[in-house]
Amino acid sequence: MPELPEVEVVRAGLAPAVNGATVTGVEVFDARSLKRHISLIEQQSGEIAQGHGRTLDAATQQLRAADFEKRLTGVTLGPAVRRGKFLWIHIEGSSSVLFGHLAMSGQLLLRGIDAPDDKNVRIRIWLNHPVHGELRIDFADQRRFGSLAIDELVATDDSHPGGLGTELPLIPQQAGHIARDPLDPAFQQDAAVRGLRQKSLPIKMALLDQRILSGVGNIYADEALWAARIHPELPANQVSAKRLNELLTAVQFVFQKALAEGGTSFDAQYVNVNGEAGYFAHSLNAYGRSGKPCNRCGETLKRSEVIDRSSVFCPVCQAKRRRRG
Ligand SMILES: [Zn+2]
Repeated sequence: MPELPEVEVVRAGLAPAVNGATVTGVEVFDARSLKRHISLIEQQSGEIAQGHGRTLDAATQQLRAADFEKRLTGVTLGPAVRRGKFLWIHIEGSSSVLFGHLAMSGQLLLRGIDAPDDKNVRIRIWLNHPVHGELRIDFADQRRFGSLAIDELVATDDSHPGGLGTELPLIPQQAGHIARDPLDPAFQQDAAVRGLRQKSLPIKMALLDQRILSGVGNIYADEALWAARIHPELPANQVSAKRLNELLTAVQFVFQKALAEGGTSFDAQYVNVNGEAGYFAHSLNAYGRSGKPCNRCGETLKRSEVIDRSSVFCPVCQAKRRRRG
């Protein structure tokens, strides 16, 4: 599943191609990839079909596809913005945005107009950019947990910019509940530490709570806990503020390093906008390395099931006993 570094690589790849581009056409091949898109008719009637299930009835699918195509065709796109794992593209002169969530296997591919089709393309957006000419964005998604949508901007609750890529203090409604991520200039580390300390959940689970800090999923949680030498099952409220600060510094470090290496393509589902894999999988110290030697002490890494998440950790470096500090 793409986490912050992977979504940021996609955002940075799309940004120059979409900013200033006119949408010349939209084709929805599979309306199940619009599960987060609520049509104007549904909004006005207040009868919103089950939006987050994987199945939508055929009439709703047709309605949403037509609504999405109509509202996006002809608009001029603006900056591409990201907070945590959410991505959106501003629409010039409008309070609406094109909103995207890649979820498990979503890909946003930037292609020339004559490029051959990639697998599992669900939605295609045709663009004409004043500098780059004609292009298309293909939203491919093998497992269909991801979605594109048109969403409305609302004010951020702290008056800071909505995310990386914009100066405007606006955020799409669907991302409004998501906390800032550790690479956001307006990220408040003290508040995140306080949020974590209020949780009696295992620290691994608390780290995945997107309302405390966003952008962290299974891969970077395991990597940051390994780097900060914290056992994934330790209750968050038993970890000292000092060690939680070290943990958040570790999150920032692994994010930066993964970004520099183009993200982690662990299961071949994540690729950049050109369809290329990232290199960070070669730099992983914990995630996916159960049974292999710890890169720090040589002990065999173990796997544990923390609630419904599998975690890999070093039983020596990340001993469960409470450490002072
Ligand atoms: Zn170790």
